[in-house]
Amino acid sequence: MPSRKLESLAAGRTGSLRLLRLLLVVSVALPLVLFAGIGWREHRDSWAEVERNSRKTALLLHEHVLKVFDTMAMTLDRVDERTRGMGWPEIAGSEPLHRYLKTLNEDLNQIGVLAVTDPQGLIRNASNVFPARNAYIGGRAYFRTQQEADAGLLIGESMVSKATGRRSFSLSRRRTATGGPDGAFDGIIHATVDPDYFASFYHRVLADRGEAVTLVRGDGQVLVRYPMIRDENQALTLPPNRGLLLAIQTRPDEGVFLNTSYNDGAERFYAYKKVGDFPVYVVYAVDASLVAGMWWRNMALDAAFVAPATLALALIAWLAYARARSEAQTLRLWAEEVRNRQRLEEALRQSQKMEALGQLTGGVAHDFNNLLTAALTNLHLLGRHLPEEAKRFLNGANTALERAEKLTRQLLSFSRQDAINPAVVDLGDSLHRMGDLLERSIRADIALEWDVAPVPLPIAVDTVQLELATLNLVLNARDAMPGGGRIRLSVRPSPVAGHARLEVADTGTGMPPEVQARAFDPFFTTKGVGKGTGLGLSMVYGFARQSGGNATIESRPGEGTRVRIDLPLSPEAPAAPPPALSERPAEAPKPLRVLVVEDNALVLMATVEGLTQEGFIVETADHGVAALEVLEQDQAFDIVVSDVVMPHGVSGIDLARRIKERWPHLRVLLASGYSPESLATMGADTAAVLAKPFRPDQLAARIRSIVASPAPTSPKAAAVRSER
Ligand code: ADP
Ligand code: MG
Repeated sequence: MPSRKLESLAAGRTGSLRLLRLLLVVSVALPLVLFAGIGWREHRDSWAEVERNSRKTALLLHEHVLKVFDTMAMTLDRVDERTRGMGWPEIAGSEPLHRYLKTLNEDLNQIGVLAVTDPQGLIRNASNVFPARNAYIGGRAYFRTQQEADAGLLIGESMVSKATGRRSFSLSRRRTATGGPDGAFDGIIHATVDPDYFASFYHRVLADRGEAVTLVRGDGQVLVRYPMIRDENQALTLPPNRGLLLAIQTRPDEGVFLNTSYNDGAERFYAYKKVGDFPVYVVYAVDASLVAGMWWRNMALDAAFVAPATLALALIAWLAYARARSEAQTLRLWAEEVRNRQRLEEALRQSQKMEALGQLTGGVAHDFNNLLTAALTNLHLLGRHLPEEAKRFLNGANTALERAEKLTRQLLSFSRQDAINPAVVDLGDSLHRMGDLLERSIRADIALEWDVAPVPLPIAVDTVQLELATLNLVLNARDAMPGGGRIRLSVRPSPVAGHARLEVADTGTGMPPEVQARAFDPFFTTKGVGKGTGLGLSMVYGFARQSGGNATIESRPGEGTRVRIDLPLSPEAPAAPPPALSERPAEAPKPLRVLVVEDNALVLMATVEGLTQEGFIVETADHGVAALEVLEQDQAFDIVVSDVVMPHGVSGIDLARRIKERWPHLRVLLASGYSPESLATMGADTAAVLAKPFRPDQLAARIRSIVASPAPTSPKAAAVRSER
């Protein structure tokens, strides 16, 4: 059988399937992992690049601001030079000075207004108008700072310009005092810075949306902001201890940081640089979302290359896997098929073996029954002629014969040729009824437990055989528990649809598989000589099969045994329990006339003798043909008792049929070792049947009961099953 090879092949397939599955997973997972790695790298690189660019941009912007401031400082110096030694009335009245200031202003785009202010805070000459309007700036912070002490070149606060009405800031210096550095304060020169100048410059330099530049004083005051935000009339101061002000605490010259904007809450990346020696920082910011966007674009580009390759790879792996799987599946199914066929063949062989054994044992038992009938009858007759003291020898012989009878019954039961008398009974009831018998057959160290389902389970069986089968099972259980234990008898609906289940479970030794395989075989026993016949379980099996059911064993060494009998449920309700034996029919006023047909001389002789003793008038015939000849002459018989198997072509069954046709009023009783069912299949459904072996008194009782019953009106009324 190629089954083993198939199975190893299938196992190999399973192994390569696992490999393919792994390949499939790897073909998807590996590119994903690589892609994630690339993504991480890109992310890192993007940020590094942003930092580099931001620092560079901040540096450029710083250079620009520094240049602006330097130029303005130079301009202020030149104005100081120009006005050196001039008194205030002269300054205020000098139109050339105004023109000079105006020219300087026009040369430098970044300057809004250039002005000279006296120590009292009045603007005495300015680049925008002449004569100056004497506007007062004495209250402003930068003026007061310069008034208090020489602050050098001072970057003023952000404020709304008196001259232009716009927000701006100024650069200022003291006029050089007439008395040298320690001379008295003699006014200031200052220039306001035009914010538009920076705005337009930044607009030209910065291309992207999402970029911003801020000019911030070290104290957090915002001087210029591009793009412009909010109400420009509001002075803007950065919150302390975060963002820029936090960053410059540790790195006062330049640096980068990530922060959420004080302005719109967006996350931004900042790079800052201090403008020369001025307490001013130029801060460049770029939106983090811009960086993320860039990263996504890069990743999308990478994915466009990686994804198709990955997909193709995965598809190929999947195809290979799917194909291998379907092949493995087919192989598995095939192997299964082969296994199933082997099981079936095994079962067939077993049932053929049982069938052959059944035929053999049936044949042997059948012949034995004839001999037993003759012996029993002769002993019965002998008994009448023996003195009382010799009767015990007779009893001994009778006991031996009864045992022999039981043995042949079991044999026949296995071969399913036993004459059975089925009746519909409730399985639970009939089991309860044998409680006493079962209790008596076990030992004191064994407990018998009952588990009977409280539902009606009507079955059509021969109750005698049911009892025998149950008894056999209980005895086997007892024998399997030499040290005591429990036997559990359970009755319940079977898992097999339409069946009732009787189960006998014990806590005994159990059976190894090789014993279990043969336990149902007739004559198979593991018990010592004289202890076991090997017919117990074979009878159980025969009974179950003959009743249309089945018997199975579940057992393992050391774990006890369960034997189950499944019996088909009967559609009929159980008959009422048989009433106490009805009084014997009154002795017939005239003796009954019987025609006995039997080819076995021994049996014939014994039967005739027995019936005569019982008070019958007996005629005989050697075979069917002879019987028909007798009946042609004389039909005045009450009954014809016939053997079944006879020579000369007319069997008991043929005889019964012919009698039925020609002399319908005549009764026929067939005596046979075959079961009524097997006789029925031969066409004997018109006659009553008595199982061999029998004693003369049993035969007589049966004859009387048949004759006493009403004459048959239809063939069915005399059918085998209705005879009880
Ligand atoms: P016998 O009882 O005469 O040996 P059976 O046909 O009843 O014959 O049983 C056949 C064999 O099956 C027994 O010899 C025994 O080995 C085994 N067997 C039957 N019933 C049981 C049981 N309940 N526990 C263990 N073994 C059992
Ligand atoms: Mg037994």
